[in-house]
Amino acid sequence: MKTHQFDALIVGAGGAGLMAALYASQEQRIKVAVVSKLYPTRSHTGAAQGGIGAALGSEEEDRWEWHAFDTVKGSDYLADQDAVEVMCREAVDVVLELEHMGLPFDRTPEGKIAQRRFGGHTRNHGEKPVRRACHAADRTGHMILQTLYQQCIKNQVHFFDEFQVLDLILSEGRVAGIVAVDIATGEVHVFHTKAVLFATGGWGKLWQITSNAHACTGDGTAIVFRRGVPLEDMEFFQFHPTGIRGMGILITEGVRGEGGVLINNEGERFMERYAPTIKDLASRDVISRAIYLEIRDGRGIDGKNYVYLDVRPETVNKHLAEAGETRRIDRAYIESKLPDILDFCRTYLGIDPVEEPMPIQPTAHYAMGGIPTNVDAEVVIDAQKTPLPGLYAAGECACVSVHGANRLGTNSLVDLVVFGRRGGRAMAEYARNAEFPPLPENPAAEALAELEQLRNADGGTRVAELREAMQDMMMTCVGVFRDAACIDSAIEKVRELRAIYDTDLHVDDQGKVFNQDLLDAWELGRMLDLAEATAVSALCREESRGAHSREDFPKRDDANWLKHTLVFRKPDGRLEIDFRPVVITNYQPKERVY
Ligand SMILES: Cc1cc2nc3c(=O)[nH]c(=O)nc-3n(C[C@H](O)[C@H](O)[C@H](O)COP(=O)(O)OP(=O)(O)OC[C@H]3O[C@@H](n4cnc5c(N)ncnc54)[C@H](O)[C@@H]3O)c2cc1C
Repeated sequence: MKTHQFDALIVGAGGAGLMAALYASQEQRIKVAVVSKLYPTRSHTGAAQGGIGAALGSEEEDRWEWHAFDTVKGSDYLADQDAVEVMCREAVDVVLELEHMGLPFDRTPEGKIAQRRFGGHTRNHGEKPVRRACHAADRTGHMILQTLYQQCIKNQVHFFDEFQVLDLILSEGRVAGIVAVDIATGEVHVFHTKAVLFATGGWGKLWQITSNAHACTGDGTAIVFRRGVPLEDMEFFQFHPTGIRGMGILITEGVRGEGGVLINNEGERFMERYAPTIKDLASRDVISRAIYLEIRDGRGIDGKNYVYLDVRPETVNKHLAEAGETRRIDRAYIESKLPDILDFCRTYLGIDPVEEPMPIQPTAHYAMGGIPTNVDAEVVIDAQKTPLPGLYAAGECACVSVHGANRLGTNSLVDLVVFGRRGGRAMAEYARNAEFPPLPENPAAEALAELEQLRNADGGTRVAELREAMQDMMMTCVGVFRDAACIDSAIEKVRELRAIYDTDLHVDDQGKVFNQDLLDAWELGRMLDLAEATAVSALCREESRGAHSREDFPKRDDANWLKHTLVFRKPDGRLEIDFRPVVITNYQPKERVY
């Protein structure tokens, strides 16, 4: 077995991992490596479309404090306000830093970074929509990823591409390394290190309809969970309102930011009823619920489970005129601002959004919860926020918490670069001062045993069958609307699926080289862990807040539930829940009105 030694290791090469790697590698005295199951620029960050939020005020007055207020309100008051302040303040500087690295943002005629509207972003505490989303057409994430990857190469960061991390090694109460398999050869490697930062992204693949890429299976989150770290606020998983019907492929909120509107079967712009002030730019949880209610009341298109998103220039111009705006748009404008969206619709639906409205439905999109951290990306393991020495997490897999019960659009990209940067600095500082901990004997034993068991699994149930059953169950019972009876049945079902996984799984490919069959099976094991943690947390929270909407507890309940959940996995596999208070600085919880 090959063993490597690096002072600091980053798992994942999306926006968060690359930003952390860039900053950690600026500390000359330590050796840094990135381990990633995907080639770095294939990470899901590259799919981010609409933009990155920062109160630059390029196009109209804006302040980071207004960004912070919108974030807290969007979170349904569950975000920790001290962390939100850090994020929104540093967003301004970090976006300029990306610009200086060469990120090709769209520009205003004067050459400033162009900004557009996005859901929940407002001027002066909700007065009216503000232009805050910095973007490079609808390929913002792609540009961030390319820019950061180039910078990492320039800084001579060491990359292990297409290495899948299987386990975290702890020794003497601190981090000692990771175990990974080289996907090309099937060979297992041990990485001995002082500090590990997980930046392994989200887990949309738990649900049937999702905007997430195939690789978004939550591996890192599940790995640390199995090693005793609790997971925070797992019940909060965001459904983005506008996925392509039946496929879930994302249609960015930037479409509505550019003036697109949602229409029901009666041709009505129904968001006027649900959010009279900012209408189609209300936060995502509000809009996803509105779409479900329209569909439930028979106002889906042709009575079916979808509505239209209409960005035809004549529709947009009509609404701009009604709002008293002088601006008008045309085909060329839509083509320059939303080229990929037009392409997706032509390719997957055979329709041109400039001529016809797009059929859309809510799609599982973003994990607000995850590995609990403080603002320096240090992983904390209890309600008192005790750090686990050497362990860090940043990006979608982490929960700082800046998104609380519901994330605002453009705030994930901000989270990646702000907390990736802080995490990279913090881990470098730690690694510079720490000694290498001893490696336990046979550090890869457990991971190897699991892999061999899966490789030889010759039962009667295929991975895809179990995965579909899980996705279907999560969609039905732990989706946009929930209630105790359905969540209960989901918990029972996931435990049944786990039992089949353990005793009756079938893996076809016994080979070593690029054995995706085996890795799919391994990933399904992680997803079942996260599905159970999500359902158990969702059952526990008896209120409706943000993306967690309980039909049996339809109201937000600040008296009892203004707190974060922490779900722990005990060594015997039982799950237990504890709580942590929400940090409130400037904004007392209020009813959310959009
Ligand atoms: C279609 C789409 C559009 C979006 N648009 C926007 C937007 O406009 N604005 C916004 O703010 N947010 C947007 N988001 C959300 C945002 O893009 C993601 O939350 C964010 O990119 C996640 O970045 P990350 O660095 O945490 O993880 P990712 O970019 O998902 O990267 C995860 C990395 O972890 C690695 N990895 C995972 N498991 C393992 C393992 N076992 N071993 C080794 N490596 C592993 C992968 O190889 C990958 O490199 C969008 C999301 C989607 C899906």
